[in-house]
Amino acid sequence: MPPAAASQTTAIVVGSGLAGLSAASQLIARNVPVRLLERGAKPGGNSIKASSGINGAPTKYQSILDDAFFSDTIKSAGKAMLFSTQHRESLISTLTNSSKDAIEWLVQEKGIDLSKVSIMGGHTFPRTHRGAGQTPPGFAITSTLLKSLKESPLFRLQTSCTVTKVLQSGHRVTGVEYIGEDGSSQELLGPVIFASGGFGGDAEGLLAQYRPDLKGYPSTNDPRPGTQPLLAAVGAQLIDMEHVQVHPTGFVDPTSPSSPLKFLAAEVLRGDGGILLSKGRRFFNELETREEVTNAITANPPDLESPKQWSVQLVLDQGVYEATKSHVDFYVFKGLMKKVTISDLPSGALGEISRYCKFVRGEETDSFGRTQFAHWSLKEPTPDSVVYVGFVTPVVHFTMGGVAINDQAEVLKKGDERVEGLWAAGEVTGGVHGANRLGGSSLLECVVFGRIAGDQCVEYVNGQKN
Ligand SMILES: Cc1cc2nc3c(=O)[nH]c(=O)nc-3n(C[C@H](O)[C@H](O)[C@H](O)COP(=O)(O)OP(=O)(O)OC[C@H]3O[C@@H](n4cnc5c(N)ncnc54)[C@H](O)[C@@H]3O)c2cc1C
Repeated sequence: MPPAAASQTTAIVVGSGLAGLSAASQLIARNVPVRLLERGAKPGGNSIKASSGINGAPTKYQSILDDAFFSDTIKSAGKAMLFSTQHRESLISTLTNSSKDAIEWLVQEKGIDLSKVSIMGGHTFPRTHRGAGQTPPGFAITSTLLKSLKESPLFRLQTSCTVTKVLQSGHRVTGVEYIGEDGSSQELLGPVIFASGGFGGDAEGLLAQYRPDLKGYPSTNDPRPGTQPLLAAVGAQLIDMEHVQVHPTGFVDPTSPSSPLKFLAAEVLRGDGGILLSKGRRFFNELETREEVTNAITANPPDLESPKQWSVQLVLDQGVYEATKSHVDFYVFKGLMKKVTISDLPSGALGEISRYCKFVRGEETDSFGRTQFAHWSLKEPTPDSVVYVGFVTPVVHFTMGGVAINDQAEVLKKGDERVEGLWAAGEVTGGVHGANRLGGSSLLECVVFGRIAGDQCVEYVNGQKN
């Protein structure tokens, strides 16, 4: 059969992170030309920085039967589940039920290695996938998708170009206005998929508006304005904007301890067995959700006011180091972690680590409730035992809120009427994670809802949907 002719209509995708790349991949695969508009000088957004992995269950890399992904996500979404319950359940079931396909698409169709599976906070089972080699998962996934898109003559990426307005004719979205690299304002016509990320870096704008209490917290996100207001201007409903994830472990760089921009200490370090000490003492189950671990840290007064910082040590033994070597070697290279001995830790640490080893050996039960110790291998710690350690503090990391979508990734107005010609996917949207996102579920939402948005846009372009 001859290949289908390319569509006459060009779809516009805003943002070149994983949600935008996933949407564009579906459009290109189905012969719809794509213009991908990206504000940054380089593509990839926050997605390229993702270091722990992407969730999926059940997949061929899991050796246990995992049937708890949906219920873990509902539990993590917490109090937000009390309202719009059905709508949220539908988004969460789309997310979790499509996770197997999402991993298969990346592995089988795109050839990305996701063979290593770890457990992260709030998960009942290990289900966060990354590659077995040195390449971090965010980079591996985004660079592969981008490379494959660039092979198509139907794909055009335009960087250093900021979308400033969504255009409408009547109730239908007809395109966008953007400021190009030369500073001129231009219009581009076509159906639009917004994949422009969260507002975690918008400290003076949306964060100050919705979460003034987080003023002064450092962040893992570059300072940039959020794009949700552009969508609200065409009637999109914003939900859960007050739900901002503070990640418990951003590295405090000893060479610039008061920098407001922090490098993330990947959650997999705790998932694979690492522990947290405050002044030499363990204080919580490190595998609780990010929200709960953060609350346990911030229950004490900060050790620094500007930025607001706490002094917590992340400690790994040799076994955890071996399991997370590619991460830790990089952190040691960057000066964020050090290889030391237990005698270099605050007094009391040896006793705490000895107790933890008893939990690992099953001789005692952890009073904080930790039951999974993964790769921790130290048995009889002494002052000379080698550990890897870095200072960490809570950081503004991810925004759960954003534009409301349905399970077809259509942008919704108040009353759940859809905005015609407009879809959204990824961190720009709200509702999928409720009050708290599970680690690894953001990359997953980008792939699942990005692909759905792409498919829906194809049907719209082909006139199968209005
Ligand atoms: C350090 C770090 C580590 C992380 N690790 C993980 C992990 O291991 N697993 C996981 O699931 N999640 C992780 N996350 C979260 C996850 O990476 C992000 O939430 C997710 O990648 C968001 O993808 P996205 O495509 O929605 O947005 P992004 O990847 O942020 O991409 C959005 C893009 O849109 C562009 N843009 C914004 N506004 C405009 C505009 N007006 N015009 C044009 N372009 C615009 C931005 O420049 C950006 O490139 C991590 C986040 C960080 C910061």
